[in-house]
Amino acid sequence: MENYLDAQQKPEPGSQATLISCPGCTGVLSVIAERGGAHLRFVCSVGHSYSLQTLLQAKEDDVERAFWSVAAFLEHIQMITGMFLQYVEREGLPIDKESLENRRRQAEVHAEQIRQMIDETEVTDMEPHLTDERA
Ligand SMILES: [Zn+2]
Repeated sequence: MENYLDAQQKPEPGSQATLISCPGCTGVLSVIAERGGAHLRFVCSVGHSYSLQTLLQAKEDDVERAFWSVAAFLEHIQMITGMFLQYVEREGLPIDKESLENRRRQAEVHAEQIRQMIDETEVTDMEPHLTDERA
């Protein structure tokens, strides 16, 4: 049982827990104010570390990846409902074809909306600040 306490992660002194998840794992981030509050460092329990700029960039990357994932899922829904419609027609199954077709069209519209959101996303260029960071 003595190892149990040793194995527990202890927050760094002066750190505050956030509600933000770590981009590198499933942990939550704590924030530490450094250099008299001029620099914020975010760390998770396994040691992933981010500055404000690198954390924002990592979250922007997460959002883009999630958007593409949703777009792909919606396109899969279109393909599968299309195949299902053909199957229902060929086999003469008593399944609501109009409902399937409506869902296929809805998935098509939603996929297009997601692609539009990806195109419209304007990510702030933080490069000038990153060159000054030592995080
Ligand atoms: Zn982490």
